[in-house]
Amino acid sequence: MKPQEHVRVSLLPAGFLTLPEHFFCADQHDKNIKNLVPSMSFLLEHIPSHTRVVFDLGLRRDLSAYPDNIQPHLRTRQPIQTVPDVCDSLIHGGLDPADIDAVILSHMHYDHVGTPSRFTMAKFIVGYGSRHILQNGMNYHSAAHFEKDLLPSDRTIELPVQNILPQFTHPIEITTHFTNRLSSFSPGGQQEWKELHPFDNVIDLCDDGSFYIVDSPGHLLGHLNVLVRVSSDRWIYLAGDACHHSRILNGETGMAEWEENGRHNLKENGFQGGSVEVVLAHDAEWYQNNLISIFPGAVED
Ligand SMILES: [Zn+2]
Repeated sequence: MKPQEHVRVSLLPAGFLTLPEHFFCADQHDKNIKNLVPSMSFLLEHIPSHTRVVFDLGLRRDLSAYPDNIQPHLRTRQPIQTVPDVCDSLIHGGLDPADIDAVILSHMHYDHVGTPSRFTMAKFIVGYGSRHILQNGMNYHSAAHFEKDLLPSDRTIELPVQNILPQFTHPIEITTHFTNRLSSFSPGGQQEWKELHPFDNVIDLCDDGSFYIVDSPGHLLGHLNVLVRVSSDRWIYLAGDACHHSRILNGETGMAEWEENGRHNLKENGFQGGSVEVVLAHDAEWYQNNLISIFPGAVED
């Protein structure tokens, strides 16, 4: 690795909402216990190419701008705070949303999609199946309402289907579509999923082994994580909603999904010889312990 091949990670506060703890923890049986938790966004600056990526957009500043059919659900998540939102947090640190080159959305739930229209120059990178969810919705619970016109179709890159089994090879048209879109963003970049131990499917976004998009199925179709190198021996893994609560990650309580794909090994075994810090989108404790990383600050390397 060359010294410059790393990513600067800054926390972008993007709202708070109130979630019942029993949703996340198999051992929490009291349904009245709720926590005010952040919905964190992150600015990821790839140092060699000066590329600025935002991972997740948090809560929408104007709650009334969410669709009518999601309003009853929002009332169950009060109190909700939406100021500052991700755009306020960028501006606070000296950037404008229009300065952002790409937005990666972990998934399409309302508390992660913010206000995409503010990112007027960004390409939106989403997991396979996300377009289908936005167009057709899902019917399994009250938060599962989606907006057909959430993302600009001419700037949205839906990643190709993952390498689940050898016979499920990439549909040609999707791969081509993706290659064309991202080539101007990362010339010569790796545009197809590949296996990279312990992950079944990653994309090397900047083609230098410092910034990986990681396929992370389970929470919602097309769920993505990001793994970035912050120094020669340190990585940060942004886990979105792959796992909601750090107590699960620490093995104090159970959640089967997290066992997939070898991710539980990350904390113990590291990655490519470096330590890995796993950050969950709604981890209030991590937020409080990392206020210094709020943009224009950054996670220390
Ligand atoms: Zn969430």
